[in-house]
Amino acid sequence: MPYSVSPSSISSFKQCPLAYKFSYLDRLPEPPSPAASKGTLVHRALELMMCRPPTDRTIDAALADLDVARTQLVDDSEFADLDLTDEERARFHAEAEELVRRYFELEDPTTVHPIGLELKLQADLGKVRIRGIIDRLELDADGELVVTDYKTGRVPSEFFESKSLGGVHIYALLCEETLGKRPARVQLLYLSKPEAIIATPTEQSCRGVARKTTALWAAIEGACARDDFRARTSRLCDFCTFKPYCPAYGGDPEQALELRGPGRVIEPALPVAAG
Ligand code: SF4
Repeated sequence: MPYSVSPSSISSFKQCPLAYKFSYLDRLPEPPSPAASKGTLVHRALELMMCRPPTDRTIDAALADLDVARTQLVDDSEFADLDLTDEERARFHAEAEELVRRYFELEDPTTVHPIGLELKLQADLGKVRIRGIIDRLELDADGELVVTDYKTGRVPSEFFESKSLGGVHIYALLCEETLGKRPARVQLLYLSKPEAIIATPTEQSCRGVARKTTALWAAIEGACARDDFRARTSRLCDFCTFKPYCPAYGGDPEQALELRGPGRVIEPALPVAAG
């Protein structure tokens, strides 16, 4: 059984139980992708900017923070293993810079009052442990909590808008459970367009999230008990690292363990001798 669930693991299980098993239970490594690494870089730059006094949060400061983030992350395998050509690397950094610039079209950072950045929260809901990392938790002008999640990917179509808010509604529930206060607002800041998608959590929405999360945990428990993680094909299969090992495409899931590479098996510790 997994130790807990998070917005990303919930979304993974819903999309495809088999891919969830590969990622979250077998913990098979996935190669870094430029899109995800760019997101990490931009998140770090905005986090650094928000650590500055409000009046210092200018575009120039944010771009300087992007440079700092680049230096901090350069040796991280998420970046070092990207294997980009010089041209691709230049485009990667130009796009990261563009995302940071666009952030300033969405809000005025000098008016933001953050009380938590990359904030880790955890709550037990019955048998389920929920964990999440909130990009930014802040107080609005009325002293109410606001949850902000930066997004560097494409803005979802209107049809998928409410689905895209699933993660921040879980954060709202986590705030309610751990801080005793439900946020007045949750928002996704899509830097690519830029566009903000905003929702107001309610008693009903928080109870709904709690109910759905409990039901999903029961589904994970059932899948673990039966060792039955079905492949669920969708358009996302084209981006799935595990496709060569997926039975839906003629692969053998047992072979996926080779993704761990040589020398990655950890032997159990020897028992300590008594007396
Ligand atoms: S290829 Fe598709 S069906 Fe197979 S594991 Fe990946 S996401 Fe699931």
